Amino acid sequence: MELTVLGCGDAFGNGGRNNTSFLISEGEERILLDCGASTLIRLKHEGIDLESISTIIISHFHGDHYGGIPFFLISSMFENPRKNPLRIIGPKGVAKRVYDLQEAMYAGSAAKTLEMDLVYFEYEQEKPLKIDELTINAWQADHSPPSIPHCVRVEWKGKVVAFSGDTSWTDHLIPLSDNSDIFICECNFMDQVDFGHLGYTELLEKESLFNTKQMWLTHMADEVINAENFSLNRLADGQIINF
Ligand SMILES: [Zn+2]
Repeated sequence: MELTVLGCGDAFGNGGRNNTSFLISEGEERILLDCGASTLIRLKHEGIDLESISTIIISHFHGDHYGGIPFFLISSMFENPRKNPLRIIGPKGVAKRVYDLQEAMYAGSAAKTLEMDLVYFEYEQEKPLKIDELTINAWQADHSPPSIPHCVRVEWKGKVVAFSGDTSWTDHLIPLSDNSDIFICECNFMDQVDFGHLGYTELLEKESLFNTKQMWLTHMADEVINAENFSLNRLADGQIINF
């Protein structure tokens, strides 16, 4: 299985990096984990056929994590009319959030999405969501509550990808990462902050609590991207990890 980093930037475009999105691929089958505003551009850059993406999973309703869906959908409606169904999985209210965002960004287009074969699923903490070969477990994250933030664990074809979403420290990160093949953890800042994000110094202290084959940092401000003497793994846009 392969993970392609379409975007590992923070909400402010630090380091010239793209908004959050990870493409998980096995052969020609693909899943998107988060779909920040720049995602369609990065998919085009990588030469990915949107039709090969069966599923979009969203961690929370902030633009740098789901603001790319309207671009994905207009391409799938008008540029290359989509033939296959598309699953969109997210926190409670995901169908309405996507509809409203579509209309806000491309006025007049939301009603047309109702003619598409979009299949919405909501996940909830402590209720594993099983759809065919895919299992999603989610835990509430500690981030802006109106965005309904979650940490998301994706089990697919025998592999486990754990993703913190945006969050400050929560003990939920421990079961999230347990026995994962890859754990992607946000690290927006160097030092601990009190507003919904993690800091490097804090993650260094807690690192031994995570049981994962490999841990990678994402959602980094300049101070994290450029820090020297850094002992955790930092992702870069365009990176491909086989796992
Ligand atoms: Zn974010």
